[in-house]
Amino acid sequence: MSHKIYIVGMGPGKEEMMTGEALCALERSDVIVGYTVYLDLLQERFREKELLSTPMRQEKERCILCFQEAEKGKQVALVCSGDAGIYGMASLMYEIGKDYPETELQVIAGITAASSGAAVLGAPVNHDFCVISLSDLLVPWEKIEKRLKAAADGGFVIVLYNPSSHKRKDYLQKACDILLETIEEERACGYVENIGRDGTKAETCTLKELRDRQVNMFTTVFIGNADSEIINGKLITKRGYDVNNRRLSK
Ligand code: SAH
Repeated sequence: MSHKIYIVGMGPGKEEMMTGEALCALERSDVIVGYTVYLDLLQERFREKELLSTPMRQEKERCILCFQEAEKGKQVALVCSGDAGIYGMASLMYEIGKDYPETELQVIAGITAASSGAAVLGAPVNHDFCVISLSDLLVPWEKIEKRLKAAADGGFVIVLYNPSSHKRKDYLQKACDILLETIEEERACGYVENIGRDGTKAETCTLKELRDRQVNMFTTVFIGNADSEIINGKLITKRGYDVNNRRLSK
């Protein structure tokens, strides 16, 4: 018998920010598997479903649980925050899925924090941009450092995921110090905490100020490029249009 597992990106938090396709997949499922924080967000709407979780860091176990439940004949959805293919579990599911050739996987795209956070701040990533995670759990710090330098050299807008955790309180500061080797202190930046969840908080500041800000693990950080500017409290990356010439072209 063949089975199918949905790998669902649920967006940043609230239901309105989930795609229709994601909601349909969850509605069609008997079992929803995920990290407890995300299941809590879904609990009310999907209370009749079986909700299963494994603690943080037990990602492999969570994936195996999905395949085991699917083999029992249940329709399973694995939920990840944002997009499941961006620092999510989609690739791990395919790797572990090699042992479960009978099970088909379907990834359902979600709104990633770079996109939902950008919307809160204004329009900070309206040009070429890089996304870099500061978590060194799976990537050595030297590699992260190299990527930060390359992104600064390339003139990209930079979006930082995982800017902090209990064990890595000074990582944002370390990252800013690397960026400040190339980028001027006054560069326009911003960050958003709890996007699409209770207590959304957005701030704009300079790169020098960002260096000394304390952010938590539910924060996404934006470092503008040379064309970024704070306009009426919003972080905007200009695309190069000539807005001084307001005459409409015929
Ligand atoms: N798959 C997720 C990213 C997971 S990595 C996505 O596509 O968005 C976890 C990091 O994502 C967090 O440390 C934070 O930097 C960012 N993030 C995810 N959800 C967020 C939210 N609701 N508010 C702010 N940042 C968020």
